[in-house]
Amino acid sequence: MNIEIKKKRAFKGLSLPENKITAKKPIEVLPVPDKVVIPLQQNIGAPCEFIVERGDMVKTGQKIADSQNYVSAPIHSSISGKVTRIIKVVNPVTSNVMDSVIIESDGLDNWIELKKLFDIKKSDDFSGLKKIIDSIDGKEIIKKIKEAGIVGLGGATFPTHVKLNPPKDKKIDTLILNGCECEPFITSDHRVMLEYGKEVLMGLYILNKVLSPQNIYVAIEKNKEDAIIYLGKLAEEMGLDSIFKIIALESRYPMGAEKTLIRTITGRIVPMGGLPMDVRVIMNNVATSKSVYEAVIEGKPMIDRVITVTGAIENPKNLLVRLGITIDKLVESCGKTESGVNYLIIGGPMMGISIVNTDFPVTKGMNCLLLRKSRIPFEQNCINCGRCVNICPMKLMPLAYVRYVKKSQFEACREYYIENCIECGCCSYVCPANIPIVGYIKTGKNQLLKTIG
Ligand code: SF4
Ligand code: SF4
Repeated sequence: MNIEIKKKRAFKGLSLPENKITAKKPIEVLPVPDKVVIPLQQNIGAPCEFIVERGDMVKTGQKIADSQNYVSAPIHSSISGKVTRIIKVVNPVTSNVMDSVIIESDGLDNWIELKKLFDIKKSDDFSGLKKIIDSIDGKEIIKKIKEAGIVGLGGATFPTHVKLNPPKDKKIDTLILNGCECEPFITSDHRVMLEYGKEVLMGLYILNKVLSPQNIYVAIEKNKEDAIIYLGKLAEEMGLDSIFKIIALESRYPMGAEKTLIRTITGRIVPMGGLPMDVRVIMNNVATSKSVYEAVIEGKPMIDRVITVTGAIENPKNLLVRLGITIDKLVESCGKTESGVNYLIIGGPMMGISIVNTDFPVTKGMNCLLLRKSRIPFEQNCINCGRCVNICPMKLMPLAYVRYVKKSQFEACREYYIENCIECGCCSYVCPANIPIVGYIKTGKNQLLKTIG
């Protein structure tokens, strides 16, 4: 297997304590919950509208919400049972209020009929599987991915069918599968590579069929050596080793961020406000690749995902959970929380969002729940030390955002390219004045959206 070790990186970055305490914990399947809460907005782009009503009985995998807008992804019921209520929940990321449906289980987990074309758990006839994939038209593949509601599972939640159908003037020559998982604590993608490697690689074969790029890379940080070795061997066994190259990268934060990874691997710089397709690249997360396989070959809609529950809790785990299960159930399944836990974070410690409400459900983009106990540092005035500027992987001016947001001069933030910030948190991490810079940046971006559009 062709494994290239990439020694150089295209950004300064941080060497953070990894705290990957669940790296060796196999994925545990959590039982089907009694109740799920499913919000209408689970992707970047347009929200969906319900196509079910209160009192309806639904099956597992049944479509319950959809949108006419192309940049959107349908939503499916993750359990079978009765639609009992339509409620409002606050999105902790955007603070927007979202309509959500509550479905109470009938205890049967009664699925819609799935059209399974191949059983990868029972058969290792990979050349037969490749023939099946080769026989499906690219447009049909994209349609299946759209119907299954697949979005980017690394947190971005961009609808995958849109990403795989770039405008004609955007010629794609490079596909990158992102298995970096550079944030401390999170191990869900690592375990997906180890436990669903066949699905991940056949998902890659499907993506290759749609895009036909000249170069395909699977990017993995060197702290996941077992995944590098395993996927390399598996690719040989499956006869896929000739189509892609594994790139082993230094463990450095934020290596896995789309723009830093593209620059490190290809040397190309995504323009300000641009997308990877502007530099002929499409990137997908490894867990998304698994879901692509399940959608196209098993006919399975997106109703579950792997999530790491970790931090200050008795038994941290990687869990395969139904979407819509509430966060309190995840916490319960991992034992007692340590005394003094004062932070619940969706995502990792650097890019995650702190939440207060444990009634909030697991949604498509959620890869980690982190429980922390930490002292809330006292914010001081900026001392113009320049550390935030020096560390920023996007070469931005974080201190300027703090200054202008405090003065409500949001347009000035735009002049300093605030929209190009990837919210990696490196600036906040190094700031000696304990300024929550990313908080100011999020406020600035939200205000720009509201006031300028
Ligand atoms: S300004 Fe944005 S991209 Fe730069 S370090 Fe801060 S959070 Fe990261
Ligand atoms: S790191 Fe903090 S104190 Fe230093 S310039 Fe940036 S915002 Fe100011």
